[in-house]
Amino acid sequence: MKINDAQLALVDKQIKRILASGNYYSKVYQKAGITGVSSPEDFLKIPFTDKADLRNAYPLGIQAVPDEEVVRIHSSSGTTGKPVIIPYTAKDVDDWATMFARCYEIAGITKKDRIQITPGYGLWTAGIGFQVGCEKLGAMAIPMGPGNTDKQLQMMIDLESTVICATSSYALLLAEEINRRGLKDKIKLKKGVIGSERWSEAKRKYIGEALGIELYDIYGLTEIYGPGIGINCLGEYGMHIFDDYLYTEIIDPQTGEVLPDGEEGEIVITTLVKEGAPLIRFRTHDLSRILPGECRCGRKYPRLDIIKGRSDDMFKVHGVNMFPSQVEEILGMVDGVSSEYKIDIAHDDANNRDIIMVTVEAEGRVDFNATGETIRQLFKSRLNVTPKVAVIALNTLPRSEKKTRRVFDHREE
Ligand code: ZN
Repeated sequence: MKINDAQLALVDKQIKRILASGNYYSKVYQKAGITGVSSPEDFLKIPFTDKADLRNAYPLGIQAVPDEEVVRIHSSSGTTGKPVIIPYTAKDVDDWATMFARCYEIAGITKKDRIQITPGYGLWTAGIGFQVGCEKLGAMAIPMGPGNTDKQLQMMIDLESTVICATSSYALLLAEEINRRGLKDKIKLKKGVIGSERWSEAKRKYIGEALGIELYDIYGLTEIYGPGIGINCLGEYGMHIFDDYLYTEIIDPQTGEVLPDGEEGEIVITTLVKEGAPLIRFRTHDLSRILPGECRCGRKYPRLDIIKGRSDDMFKVHGVNMFPSQVEEILGMVDGVSSEYKIDIAHDDANNRDIIMVTVEAEGRVDFNATGETIRQLFKSRLNVTPKVAVIALNTLPRSEKKTRRVFDHREE
């Protein structure tokens, strides 16, 4: 979706503010000779930025307003290196609340609802985002934070919570507990607002049915306000993103080329009115696509498909982008196969083609040859690549407590 004139004017204003502030990005833009934007072509010349810049600017190097205008900071938990600090002005907090309240409204939540908030409160943006949105909407917030399932269930019953906000894993845990304790008749939940992460259809179905609720995916990241910058509407696919606050692009994560609507790639977000820490063309490393056309609900906000995974995990075979989530989906369809796998990609110079080798584990009761063939056919029909498949015994692939590396690309060696 091409940047429109109103958005362009806002970006121009942001660049001029950034340059005047003398912050980290003012130096980046000065060096690149960027003084403003007056056309979509100008916009495309602005360099991308990502988390590494925010770390370089630690702690407050990206602040673009005087100290007296900052009312709050949030921080994203870095798994590696320094955390990222994002300063907010009063208007930033209010804008965030407005977007989040819109999310609740799109989910059909009103001021009569009672919203039980289980994401954590603190430096990160989760719990407090759900809270500011709830207060803006005028609903009753029940600010539980995470954990303490007994208390969660007690409050849910006694206060007759109608909305649960949670991660998908915590929603699943609560659903299981409600099932186990036979409490379904005592709860009044109608809707669940789930922090967007990759979660399976099976999990979604289970939570929805166990709690008897409608589920909504909410999108956001700390660098760009926090959760609440987009949500799906009822019965429709994809999340509406608020284009009066944010401009969204999808790029090829490897080349940086902007992709047309409908094509899958990395989400890049520009904040149009953020004051404390404006970000222009911020690479989120989240993978999705812009859904073409208008939504049946009639809302004009553009839509992002559900998040497919992280661009850092993506790999390319025969020019086709593939994601671990797709491999996991395929393995989930095959009887007797574990969720562990290993993928080796090499280049066959003699025939000038890529070779993809998939190693999976299977239980002893299944026929390894037939299982391998099933997986090969599924890759062929769903991903359009034909791998060589090795089926080995259960618990023979290496496990690690940290994130296990599963994709090995030998082509550049
Ligand atoms: Zn819609």
